Amino acid sequence: MKTNLEEAIKKISEKYSHILTQEKLLEMASLSIQSKSNSYSPYSKFRVGCCLLTSDGKLFTGTNVENVTFGLSVCAERCAVFNAVSQGAKKIIVAVVCTDMEYVITPCGACRQVLVEFGLEDCFCLSLNDINHMTAEELLPSSCRIDHLKKE
Ligand SMILES: [Zn+2]
Repeated sequence: MKTNLEEAIKKISEKYSHILTQEKLLEMASLSIQSKSNSYSPYSKFRVGCCLLTSDGKLFTGTNVENVTFGLSVCAERCAVFNAVSQGAKKIIVAVVCTDMEYVITPCGACRQVLVEFGLEDCFCLSLNDINHMTAEELLPSSCRIDHLKKE
């Protein structure tokens, strides 16, 4: 779902005013692009970078890592989540994902589920020419959440 970028950035900055300024959002975009440069994607040549913001204001990055057996490849978003969680992050609230494409690419289904598991609320997807903002509910409506496993 494409939204007006200025409106989305303003809304996000207000929502997370204690930890996410417009400058920090730009820093996240920069780190996402920087992380993309580390992509290991010799098979697809499809580079992806991701930067995550946690609820305590920390930033974590990831990139896609492919494997000759394809099934073992990991997307940038999950790489960033695993990086964050392995360093103690508990709640991830914002993701910025970038590619080299001229049109916006959004996270795959597996990454959407993993991002939602750790509390993702907002996602920005950058292309070379455009940017999209989506809420977690827009990314993965009616997602499977930990609450669903609790017995009443
Ligand atoms: Zn993915």
